[in-house]
Amino acid sequence: MPLVAEVRSLTILHTNDLHARVTALDDGRGGFAALAAVIRKQRVQCSDCVLLNAGDLVQGSPISTVFHGLPVFEIANLLGFDAATLGNHDFDYGWIEARKFIHTANYPIVSGNLVGAGGRLFTPKPYVILRVNGLRVAVIGAMTEELSTLSTPKLMEEWHAVSVIEAARKYAAALHDRTDLVVLLGHINHVEEDRFLSQATEIPVLVTGHIHGGLEHEVSRNGRVLVRVRGYGEELGRLELAVDTEKKAPVSWTWKRLPVDGREIEPAGDVAVQVNRWEDEVSKQVDQPVAVSLRHFEPSEIKRLIEQAMRDETGADFAFINQGGVRDILPRGQLLVRHIWNIMPFDNRVVFGKFKGRDLPLVVLGDQKVHPEREYTLAVSDFTAANQSANEQLRSSGLRFSGDGGLLRDVLVNWFRKKGVIE
Ligand SMILES: [Zn+2]
Repeated sequence: MPLVAEVRSLTILHTNDLHARVTALDDGRGGFAALAAVIRKQRVQCSDCVLLNAGDLVQGSPISTVFHGLPVFEIANLLGFDAATLGNHDFDYGWIEARKFIHTANYPIVSGNLVGAGGRLFTPKPYVILRVNGLRVAVIGAMTEELSTLSTPKLMEEWHAVSVIEAARKYAAALHDRTDLVVLLGHINHVEEDRFLSQATEIPVLVTGHIHGGLEHEVSRNGRVLVRVRGYGEELGRLELAVDTEKKAPVSWTWKRLPVDGREIEPAGDVAVQVNRWEDEVSKQVDQPVAVSLRHFEPSEIKRLIEQAMRDETGADFAFINQGGVRDILPRGQLLVRHIWNIMPFDNRVVFGKFKGRDLPLVVLGDQKVHPEREYTLAVSDFTAANQSANEQLRSSGLRFSGDGGLLRDVLVNWFRKKGVIE
């Protein structure tokens, strides 16, 4: 304990939802080598800096899909994280792979509410105490309670998220006397963010992820502050805090979002070498032309393209893909297999079943009329089928999809190839 109360500075650099976007995006932003350069520039002569990552490091690019995420963690070891938590997508290759991520990372990965049978923790520790600028900063990891509908029982087996607020508050209370500041590093949704701000008075600083849209400005309530940046490595967050060691809370702060753009900063050479090494492994497979796009497509339009592809390729009457399953835009111009992998990095399969008109989910029908007694074929992804009752999915229960239409990504590549021109 410091002998007298004092105010000390702390700078939290932070990222979230990097989603394996190791190379620059189509618009030139992002890329791990440029991100590393921005981070390193911020850390020069910074004696009070820590770097946190709020989960979903993997899933989103071919090297992640092909090698099940591990290369992304290897490259991320060059970014200099001090602590991180896991996101729902870090379980997309199964919990055993997520365990490998924890062992591969050269920084602690913490989560306070991811548990298995008997309540034992998935990560080695629920929190880590970082020592920086004379401060003891506790970083508690947290996973959204939605995890079960964002994953499948096969991937998670016994592992699940328990009450995120309860767990984090329990650890925060226990850490109070041993630390100068408690930070929540949460991969959580909007509702959970709001609950933390309104209820968790023991936790004055929240660094979050899961929602890919960054905040315009930090959110604050009663002297507590929450920050989150855009996903895919487009931004690095920089939260400068003046921490009162008696109150164990910040007395003031400023927050900046620093753009990551390899055209404005020299990308880090050592990171670029590793990125290129892994990219070379998959390039032959994914840098092949599939079609030409006459315009830019937003994810909401791509959802419709994917549903059309699913209908065309399987002969189904209806198709559905959840909007959250569409992971990228399509740029105008030459489309490569890589672009299809970027919009659909998941190894999801197309499945289909026959259902009476009266049993078809409303979200699938839209304003189309069907005969209640006639049978129709509906194609969805196996992920949708497994989570059909979720809000973002079919909001149905008990629909059985016994037909298998193959890997959704392959279905899309075939469809784009046949189309040739997308307009
Ligand atoms: Zn997430």
